[in-house]
Amino acid sequence: MTERSQRVVEIVEVGPRDGLQNEPSVMSTAMKVEFIRLAIAAGIRRVEVASFVNPKRVPQMADAEEVLRALPPRDDVRYVGLVLNRKGLDRALAAGCTEIGMAVVASETFNQRNQGASTADSIAAWLDIARSARAAGIRAQVTVSAAFGCPFEGEISAAKVVEVVERVAQAEPFEIAIADTIGVGVPTQVTEIFSRVREKLPHMPLRFHFHNTRNTGLANAYAAVEAGAVALDASIGGIGGCPFAPAATGNIPTEDLVYMLQRMGISTGVDLEALIRTGQWLQDRLGRPIPGMLGKAGVFPAMHSVA
Ligand code: ZN
Repeated sequence: MTERSQRVVEIVEVGPRDGLQNEPSVMSTAMKVEFIRLAIAAGIRRVEVASFVNPKRVPQMADAEEVLRALPPRDDVRYVGLVLNRKGLDRALAAGCTEIGMAVVASETFNQRNQGASTADSIAAWLDIARSARAAGIRAQVTVSAAFGCPFEGEISAAKVVEVVERVAQAEPFEIAIADTIGVGVPTQVTEIFSRVREKLPHMPLRFHFHNTRNTGLANAYAAVEAGAVALDASIGGIGGCPFAPAATGNIPTEDLVYMLQRMGISTGVDLEALIRTGQWLQDRLGRPIPGMLGKAGVFPAMHSVA
């Protein structure tokens, strides 16, 4: 396969935010900055570095501004700040984020519990956030969360997901993400949601966010890639967890995902060996085994390779 025809899927490293947020112990600012630096050194070019939310509710993210201040300025890297409201946006812009991510939950109850607002209010906030980010010259994207199931309401219909996606699309984001926040989804759901969204929004780039809570994460990622997703979220080592399944593993491991994509002939621009080393570094810092499998088994064939 020639370089010219090789398909590319972008990896968004969410370990420093989604991964760490579900870790029981708070990581120091210096260690977070080192984590992000190692991810960039491995070839990651989009990193969710912090969320700008109430530090009383999410102590792990209380140092969001400090993390941003300590990051090296890089024109080729997007430092993504997650925000849930106007106040978060103002903080993220002031801190120097180069991309804004907002989340709207497909389930009404979950949106209320997570964001203290109705889904409709969060959508209205997103439309305002997208406008303001654009005015500030910063690109913004939005994630439709709990799209595969809700811990409070149970099943979420694909029709409901499409309805929310269509409403957030009114802000014309550069990309929309669809998230299996609690890790209950299966590949046929991915295919169905993708095709139904595609029918309504034929040109919108779609990113997917999976948790490996029930070991379906990579299968879901495969289904998303086959359907035509342009980007996938993942966390190095598969760190993190699920707030609704305390013993569960986290996001899909970046190294396992990149291994699969690379062997499928899909380019990510990320160095597998460097990801594995970063996973081991994380494991040492967290003081417990990481869920990622590649670090245990190694790359095949055994050679240094860059996708
Ligand atoms: Zn997540």
